[in-house]
Amino acid sequence: MKKKIAVYPGSFDPVTFGHLDIIDRAAKIFDQVIVSVFVHSEKKHMFDIDERAAMLKRAVKGKKNVSVDCFEGLLVDYVRKKKTDIVIRGLRAISDLEYEFQIAAVNRTLYSPIETVFFMPRQRYTYLSSSVVRDIAHFNGDVSKLVPPHVVKAIAARKNK
Ligand code: ADP
Repeated sequence: MKKKIAVYPGSFDPVTFGHLDIIDRAAKIFDQVIVSVFVHSEKKHMFDIDERAAMLKRAVKGKKNVSVDCFEGLLVDYVRKKKTDIVIRGLRAISDLEYEFQIAAVNRTLYSPIETVFFMPRQRYTYLSSSVVRDIAHFNGDVSKLVPPHVVKAIAARKNK
């Protein structure tokens, strides 16, 4: 049977326990999950793309069917290159829906076989986003309940530069 490969795209700036919750759910359902960090020219980043990918790689180490990659350009082109048509996204709250709905619809217009599959994280991560982590870090708050320990360290190192 054909392997079911799914692409989970995002900024992951930095990876949070919310992302990891979605990755675990997707990895239970699909044969392979490719977590892909995308270069977003408009967004201001805390970590560059290589740092984000390295933190993700460390966070998913030990998850056998999960790999990490980076991409630039249109998601539909990237997905085709990876020989799949499944995209994973996370839904935290209804407020995510409007944006996600728009992206999914646009992607389907560009490439009709694409299927966007949404996962809900456990309740305690529904408020969590990378930007919340960046905001807390900005004011030297404790992010240890929100991101893995190596990300806590990377944030501290960035702040002390
Ligand atoms: P963010 O900066 O909002 O974390 P990303 O681009 O890194 O954004 O997010 C990639 C995908 O992961 C998006 O579909 C986003 O909705 C989802 N996501 C991010 N954080 C969570 C979370 N805490 N729970 C569920 N999904 C999430």
